[in-house]
Amino acid sequence: MASFWSLLTLYAGLVFLQLAQAQATCNLSPRIAEQLRSLLSPRSEVVLTSNASFATDFVQRFSVNRAPSFVVAVKPASAADVGRVVRYASQNNVPFLATGGGHGYTWSLSRLQCGIDLDLSSFDSIAIDNAANTMTIGGSALSDNVTRALYAAGKELPVGMCTCVGFTGFTLGGGIGPYSGLYGAASDSLISAELVTGTGQLLTVSKTQHPDLFWGLKGAGFNYGVATALTFRVYPATNGGQAVVTNMIFPGALNGTVWQVLSAFFGNQPKELGLALSVGYQEQRGGMVIIVGFVYAGPEAESTALLKPFLDLNPLNLQILNTPWEDVPEVIVYGATRAGCQKGAQFVPYSVNLYKVDVPNLINVVGYMQTTLAANATLRSAIVTWAQYAPYGFQRYADDSSAFPYRAATAFVQINAFSPSAEQVPALDGFARELRDRFQRGSGSRSLETYVHFGHGDETPAAWYSARKLPRLQELKRVYDPKSLFSWYNAVPVRRDYW
Ligand SMILES: Cc1cc2nc3c(=O)[nH]c(=O)nc-3n(C[C@H](O)[C@H](O)[C@H](O)COP(=O)(O)OP(=O)(O)OC[C@H]3O[C@@H](n4cnc5c(N)ncnc54)[C@H](O)[C@@H]3O)c2cc1C
Repeated sequence: MASFWSLLTLYAGLVFLQLAQAQATCNLSPRIAEQLRSLLSPRSEVVLTSNASFATDFVQRFSVNRAPSFVVAVKPASAADVGRVVRYASQNNVPFLATGGGHGYTWSLSRLQCGIDLDLSSFDSIAIDNAANTMTIGGSALSDNVTRALYAAGKELPVGMCTCVGFTGFTLGGGIGPYSGLYGAASDSLISAELVTGTGQLLTVSKTQHPDLFWGLKGAGFNYGVATALTFRVYPATNGGQAVVTNMIFPGALNGTVWQVLSAFFGNQPKELGLALSVGYQEQRGGMVIIVGFVYAGPEAESTALLKPFLDLNPLNLQILNTPWEDVPEVIVYGATRAGCQKGAQFVPYSVNLYKVDVPNLINVVGYMQTTLAANATLRSAIVTWAQYAPYGFQRYADDSSAFPYRAATAFVQINAFSPSAEQVPALDGFARELRDRFQRGSGSRSLETYVHFGHGDETPAAWYSARKLPRLQELKRVYDPKSLFSWYNAVPVRRDYW
């Protein structure tokens, strides 16, 4: 293990290098734009981000809090153009970031300043082969468009709770959602990818072509290159594509009983049942409430029978909707996830994986939230969400089948706040971090573990990728991204000392 001082020196050196690099890029941006224009095919676009067309023609970020900053934006027209941008950036030491849906929000992104925005908007195609049960998408196709295309074709795949995320970005970190109970992470259904690596090569990556890299793409993919296309295995829609969404609201005072009922589901949860829960403060109800949204890929009668233990608790509100599965993200938890599609948010994210339902600890956390939020109205945008899927889908694949490390998680907990202004971010940040620490104490894991896409950015690489997978991921980094061009998003460090 390297000494503290050598690590500190190394870190300071890196920060200095990045700052110097950023300054150089800021100063040279007109020249960089000009050089890129001369390199790329005519249908590609290159603009300075100071140009008004950047805001209208390029993907904007969901969260502007601790966001990366760009001075030049490029929209490559082809995979060959993507390769040209990557090689140019590498040779000229200019930092860049691929943008799919722009929904990545980890604060680690703020380390990228004065970079090139490699906007993948031109890669938005979606093609489904009905007979072969496969789907090929471009690297920026949005989750909503993918979901609707799958539904129309009578197919399905796990999609997330927010319709506007990029489906490739989502998949490269694993990709989890209500149908993960059936199929695991979205990355478990990946068949192949077209990837421009950090060495500038355009590779087809699959179980038989660069299998080591294929393993790494499924859970840590944004560390190794730019995916211009992904091909998935897809599945005939369960229950003819119809799902039942049941939303319920419980008073916070009942939280102990809700956790108790919930804990009985874990391990026994049918694979067709997904669950999203949120805990927050509602002024109109005078305190904490728990909102639970269930998705059942089956008939309503079966859903109602399964949910009887919750229904018996007499929720304050009950909503039962028979809905095409494509609309689930729109209606689950009363449509609350739609807020995640507003661009320009001041988002404060924290997260922790749970491996057990520790009822006394959860009661303590809700009690702490009640006391704090009753006393401080400015913190009330902080909400805890809890996603719980049947283990069946994750367990269909062996742990070493991919880089995705969290098949055994009981629940993926997020503590998120939408700050009304940049000034209120520090207070919300302190509160949300405290909540994460309190959840962690009852998580069933000695150290913090976090689903990489939900991370804040202050966790260790071992928390995102697990200590058992990191050495293999680092080896891949040395081969496919030796200059660490892809190092802004909860990155796999090249050096072992970092974790
Ligand atoms: C409101 C909200 C709800 C969410 N719900 C869920 C959920 O239910 N389940 C879940 O699993 N996740 C969820 N996420 C997380 C989401 O999957 C990630 O933020 C994901 O990174 C978004 O991808 P993007 O392309 O939109 O983001 P971007 O910010 O464009 O990209 C994020 C990272 O991925 C890289 N990337 C994107 N596209 C490519 C590509 N084609 N090739 C290489 N790298 C690429 C980027 O360079 C960046 O490092 C949610 C996020 C939000 C904001």
